[in-house]
Amino acid sequence: MVDAVRVLANLDELRALTGDANGAQRVAWSPVWLKARAWFEEKLKALPVERHYDAAGNHWVTLPGESETALVVGSHLDSVPNGGWLDGCLGVMAALEVLTHFAESFNGRPPITIKLVDWADEEGARFGRSLFGSAAFAGQATIEADRRRTDRDGITLEAALAACGVEIDRVGEAVIEQKSLAAYLELHIEQGPILEAQGKPLGVVLGTKGVERWAITFHGQEAHSGSTPMPVRRDALAAAAKLALEIRPIAKKHPQAVATMGSVKTFPGIVTAVVGRCEATLDMRDLDADVLASILEEARAASLRFASEERCTVEWSKIWSIQPIPFDAELVLLCREAVLETAGTVEELPSGPLHDAAEVASAGIPTVMMFVQSLNGLSHNAAEDTRREHLELAVTAFTSLAEKVAAWIQR
Ligand SMILES: [Zn+2]
Repeated sequence: MVDAVRVLANLDELRALTGDANGAQRVAWSPVWLKARAWFEEKLKALPVERHYDAAGNHWVTLPGESETALVVGSHLDSVPNGGWLDGCLGVMAALEVLTHFAESFNGRPPITIKLVDWADEEGARFGRSLFGSAAFAGQATIEADRRRTDRDGITLEAALAACGVEIDRVGEAVIEQKSLAAYLELHIEQGPILEAQGKPLGVVLGTKGVERWAITFHGQEAHSGSTPMPVRRDALAAAAKLALEIRPIAKKHPQAVATMGSVKTFPGIVTAVVGRCEATLDMRDLDADVLASILEEARAASLRFASEERCTVEWSKIWSIQPIPFDAELVLLCREAVLETAGTVEELPSGPLHDAAEVASAGIPTVMMFVQSLNGLSHNAAEDTRREHLELAVTAFTSLAEKVAAWIQR
C-alpha cells in the first residue's frame, strides 16, 4: 500500500527538525544538513536495505532485487538558506515511499534492484557550485575549479567537504555508481506558475531547457543633450531599447521559449548626455536546441539592424550557455500515463531551472521527472507551498510511475 500520509508526516517532521521561522536551513555541508541526513538514516532502519555514501557525498540506499539491474529514484535533502520545506525533500521522501512499497510488495526482494539517491549539494547555495554530487556522478566533476571555491567566511569547499568525510581529489570516483542503472526518476515541485494556471495538479517534465546567456554592447556617440539635434544623434540606448522590445515577439513565436533582457547600463549615464555606450544582457531559453539557436540568431540580426538604424555598432560576448537536455521519450510516455491515471488530467512542460535529473540524463541514463503544482509559483523561500491533496496525488502517481518503469526495465 502506498501511504502518502506517511510521506507528508515525514516532511512535516523534517521541517520541524531542520527549519526555523525563516524557512529550511539544510544548506549542504552544514551541521543542519548532516542532522537531516542522520534523521533520514534512522528512517531506513526498518527496511531491508544496504546503504553507503559515494566519493562525492551522494547517499545511496539499495533494496537488492533478483537482478542487479537497478531503477533509481531520488532528489536532494539540501536547501538554500531560508529555503522551502518541499524543494528536494519531497522527492527524497517520495523515493523512500517507493522503496518501502517495493519492499512490501515483493517480500523484501523485488525482481530488479531499487535504489534511492540523495544527491549532495544540489543547490550550490554556499559555494556557488550547483548539482555538485550529481555532476560528479555523471563524470562532470570540476575539481580544479572547486578547489578555489570559498564561502562568505573564507572557508574552502575542500575543507567543508573534508569535514563531511569527502576528499576533493576523489569526488570523480562517484561515476562508478552508474553501474547497472537502467532508469532514473525524480519527483519535484514545479517552482513556477504553469500547473497552477492550467488547474493541473501534476505535470510531466519533457526535459531541462538550454540556456544562451550573452552580454550585448551598443556603441554610439556621447553628445550634449541640449546642443545635439535629433537627426544626428547616435544613441546607443535607443538601439538597445528597440532590441529589448523585439526579443518578445521573437520568443513568442515558440510556445516554450523565453527571452529576458535583465540588465541595461548606460554610459555616461547622466541626464544631460546622449548615451554613448549601452551594455545589456540577454538570457534566452528553450527545450529545443534548433529553436534556441534560431531565436538567438534572430536576436543577433535584430541587434545589427537596430544598431544600423541608430548609426551605432554592436558587439556580442558570451557569458555562459548550456544545451537543452530532453528526457527519455519512452519514460515521458509512462510518466504521462501514471499522471493521467492518478489525477485524470496531465500537462507536459519543460523545466526552466536545472535539476540533478539533467546530469543523470546527460550521463545517458533514461530519465524523467514529474512535477507537482507550486502555489503562486514560489520557491526557495519560506512561502514555498503545495496543497496537501496535491502532494498526496503526487506520491501516488510517482509510485505508479516507478512500477511502470520497473516493468519497462524488465520488458
Ligand atoms: Zn530542488
